[in-house]
Amino acid sequence: MDDWSREDVSTLKGVGPKLKEKLARLGLNNKQQMLFHLPLRYEDRTRLTALGSIQSGQRALIQAEILQSGISFRRQGRSRRIMLVKLSDGTGFLTLRFFNFSASQQNKLEKGSWIRCFGETRMVMGSIEMVHPEYEIINPDQPPPLNSFLTPVYPVTDGLHQLSLRKIMLQLIAQLSQQGLSETLPLQWVESHHLPSVTRALQILHNPENQQDVIKIQSTQHPAQQRFIIEELTAHRLSLLQRRQQIRRLHCPSIKPSSHYQQQLLSVLEFELTNAQHRVIAELMADFKLNQPMMRLIQGDVGSGKTIVAAMAALPVIASGYQCALMAPTEILAEQHFQNFSKWFEGQGIKVISLMGADKGKKRTLKEESIATGEAQMIVGTHALFQASVKFNSLGLIIIDEQHRFGVDQRQALQKKAEKNIMPHQLIMTATPIPRTLAMSVYADLDYSQIDELPPGRTPVKTSIISQSKRDELINSVRAACAKGQQIYWVCTLIEESEVLQCEAAQLTFENLQNQIPEITVGLVHGRMKSDEKERAISAFKQGKTQLLVATTVIEVGVDVPNASIMIIENPERLGLSQIHQLRGRVGRGNIESFCLLLVKSDLSKQVSNRLEVIRNHQDGFIIAEKDLEIRGAGEVMGTRQTGEASFKIVDLVRDKRWFSQAEQLAELLMQDSESLQRQQLLDNWIGHKAEYSDVG
Ligand code: ADP
Ligand code: MG
Repeated sequence: MDDWSREDVSTLKGVGPKLKEKLARLGLNNKQQMLFHLPLRYEDRTRLTALGSIQSGQRALIQAEILQSGISFRRQGRSRRIMLVKLSDGTGFLTLRFFNFSASQQNKLEKGSWIRCFGETRMVMGSIEMVHPEYEIINPDQPPPLNSFLTPVYPVTDGLHQLSLRKIMLQLIAQLSQQGLSETLPLQWVESHHLPSVTRALQILHNPENQQDVIKIQSTQHPAQQRFIIEELTAHRLSLLQRRQQIRRLHCPSIKPSSHYQQQLLSVLEFELTNAQHRVIAELMADFKLNQPMMRLIQGDVGSGKTIVAAMAALPVIASGYQCALMAPTEILAEQHFQNFSKWFEGQGIKVISLMGADKGKKRTLKEESIATGEAQMIVGTHALFQASVKFNSLGLIIIDEQHRFGVDQRQALQKKAEKNIMPHQLIMTATPIPRTLAMSVYADLDYSQIDELPPGRTPVKTSIISQSKRDELINSVRAACAKGQQIYWVCTLIEESEVLQCEAAQLTFENLQNQIPEITVGLVHGRMKSDEKERAISAFKQGKTQLLVATTVIEVGVDVPNASIMIIENPERLGLSQIHQLRGRVGRGNIESFCLLLVKSDLSKQVSNRLEVIRNHQDGFIIAEKDLEIRGAGEVMGTRQTGEASFKIVDLVRDKRWFSQAEQLAELLMQDSESLQRQQLLDNWIGHKAEYSDVG
């Protein structure tokens, strides 16, 4: 079925080795892939625009006589020749400007000839111009017919011209019209939703017949698009469900309940677990009973107490004779976890070790040995854990903290540390609230638990937005607060890509604050410091030896200092809302009234101040994430690292929310039939090579 569409692009007329290679760069290797390479937009070349009525900035098709054509020179670095061609159609004038041109072009564009051009116009010193338009010389008495279809504009790559792509597409559409593609969605469903068939939908999107179609397409309201949006969502979900099914079939470490160890841990804690923590722990224990590899995501707002839940999950694994690895995104956080786990587990004779990038030489060899022999039972570390030299003895559970900081690749790298055919259990924890809708589509391969309750006694953090111009007053408040024994974080942000600049900014702020408030001790921590320096800075702050800690966003995740009650964030507009929310979560952990002060430039745009208002007005991480999603779109909120797997061709997770449940149902339906051709077709059409999950184990 549809064999023709699997034919190589080189079977198309006009596609030689060179063009084939360019198409391959766009991931277009066969006809089917070409057909699903949909236009970005459409140009209207179905009618001519009179020069007299043309507007600057308009993309228009015009037809006019050449009044004059000449070369002028421009000195700019080296002198450059420019060809200017002046046109009129009797209603107005227009000038064409060419920076590159051949002698033959110059000859053809001679006075008295008629020309038809398509291009974007611009106003230069009072007259309308087109720069390098597409054009053809025509006979004014017998002008070529105008297009009856709107002209599609495709995504292209270097050296691949619209025109050549369009020509190939026309061939393809003709073949499509003759041979058609078979339906990829259940027929009844397509009909009951009044959606066009695959073939019809492709025809419409490549060659919309009228402006009404285009208007609908531009607002993604066209049924032809909607069917593909649903297809893509369904295909995406199918691929995650398949992947999950594959993993579920693998063997896993068998974990026996160990309430004895758990009771003992609870008895040494200085607090009672919340109901939400109890519930999630029970969910994890139920997973173990299933005797399938656990794949669970725990979401819990900052401070909801995910760490102890992870520890409760590690105990039965260790009691069953397996090792547990906990991976944290920063050394500061890994160190903090290491200390907690050591404190919690040492009474039970469990060997806890840490492994960081900074562990080198003899120290490292010893640690790796202890991991390889199985002597180390609970191993806490950074991404150092999945380096090649680290060999686990019997890895039973992988816990990944603050998942949003890691890529999917890293998760898979750690999975590969497991013995052949045995898939360790996986527990992924994140404080970045993932709106439910997004969680379902991006993490459909994971089960989902939520710690939706904060431990009692937390005070809401009062948040204000303060202009940089009030910095002096702010310094005075800082001084007063420190005098009362309070502790303060001062976070410097810069664009994430430039860690160096961010560290420099922190260094500078650190020096300034020391000078401005000489009576307090100021600490500094940033990503470029050595790990023992970082550790010293954090522990001095924890112990109250420093009153104010200047930091970069390295403290964003996990750091726990209950006495800190003020969080100052400079240039918060550079951060995502969830990130600000996480930072704010560093304070408000004790019973002192806490504040978060967002220090902003005075000339914030409306959009930016709206975003910051969201932070000011809400304390709930979920609401903040939903709003952030609305304002910035899914890619931004999730970060490319997370959506890597979930990059969509036409779906926009925010815009297309209303189709999620349909797609979910369709995916379930298609999963029921193990031989489903439609399912394979959907995966081929939308996921392509990404659907091959052969290396899950
Ligand atoms: P997060 O979910 O942000 O990782 P942590 O696990 O770091 O949160 O916990 C935050 C703080 O709350 C820690 O000091 C932890 O000991 C404490 N904590 C955790 N659970 C409870 C609880 N049920 N009652 C009181 N304090 C708790
Ligand atoms: Mg944490």
